[in-house]
Amino acid sequence: NIRKVNENYFGSYSSFGIHKEMISDKVRTEAYRDALLKNPSLLFGSVVMDVGCGTGILSLFAAQAGASRVIAVEASEKMAKVATKIAKDNKVFNDSEHNGVLEVAHSMIEELDKSIQIQPQSVDVLVSEWMGYSLLYESMLSSVIYARDRWLKPGGAILPDTATMFVAGFGKGATSLPFWEDVYGFDMSSIGKEVLEDTARIPVVDVIEARDLVTGPALLKAFDLATMKPDEVDFTATATLEPIESETEARLCHGVVLWFDTGFTNRFCKENPTVLSTSPYTPPTHWAQTVLTFQEPISVAPATVLSGDDRRGAIGTEESPASSIHLQIHQYNGRLVRNKTWSYHAKRVLST
Ligand code: SAH
Repeated sequence: NIRKVNENYFGSYSSFGIHKEMISDKVRTEAYRDALLKNPSLLFGSVVMDVGCGTGILSLFAAQAGASRVIAVEASEKMAKVATKIAKDNKVFNDSEHNGVLEVAHSMIEELDKSIQIQPQSVDVLVSEWMGYSLLYESMLSSVIYARDRWLKPGGAILPDTATMFVAGFGKGATSLPFWEDVYGFDMSSIGKEVLEDTARIPVVDVIEARDLVTGPALLKAFDLATMKPDEVDFTATATLEPIESETEARLCHGVVLWFDTGFTNRFCKENPTVLSTSPYTPPTHWAQTVLTFQEPISVAPATVLSGDDRRGAIGTEESPASSIHLQIHQYNGRLVRNKTWSYHAKRVLST
């Protein structure tokens, strides 16, 4: 019965597929595993809350690390059931039959009071994997902040405890222009140009190779998850992008790529701090990077390369490259829709 197979495929497999993708992302899962398993002075004997447990993988690590109580909270009924079964199968479940430390609450974190017995501000360690594309796209950060303020002890640990957004300029190699320029010897570059015009309208998630960057990285925004307020996720930030110094000629910058790191810093992870990086300089993750394409490319060259004439008139054209790009990014509600919720512009500037 073909219909049944299809239903099954799109029904249960598709959401398990997402969990498989996340768990298979070793950079992601091993950063959390290391933070939880390699910091015994934080985890051993502690009360842990896992916000959005999914399969329960982070809660299982916490139980393995010797936590005294692990509260796994999951809004999806299907995943809460699955996490319960998995906890039982792995002999860490806590009920009258099983003498483990892990309990699963099927609840939105915002409504947890109704489903389990727990005192406000009684959790030692709050852990969550809440990050979205370019950090904040459809992210559940506000739920994590809510959980922090309601359930975490004053001075308790939040994992990860920092999140930092970065930006860098990319060149032609990161676009489909080279592909369309030579198709079995035929020039199809008109397609490449159309593709670029299309992608200039909306951010795109894609893996960008470090060798296709034409500027160095710049910090866009840093969040301290232990102290930040929910409204900090809406911001306007500026960054200056400097062309890669070793370049000996001007390069076209076709747009910028965004990524984030989250830190499990030595504030809470005293024995083994670690970083989960989604940068183009490190192995790719399922978040890849987020690409914002400029309407028009900007030609950039290191100040040392620009001649006297260029430096006076630098406006970022091919005849007159700029020595840096000033960028402004607006982030609203974690949505990446250009013009309405995200916008950016680049000023051509002359460095002195
Ligand atoms: N911790 C798991 C799953 C991360 S995906 C892992 O690391 O593999 C995020 C999970 O959070 C999803 O399963 C989603 O259903 C759940 N979730 C999202 N918002 C939530 C909320 N407000 N309350 C409870 N669970 C939530």
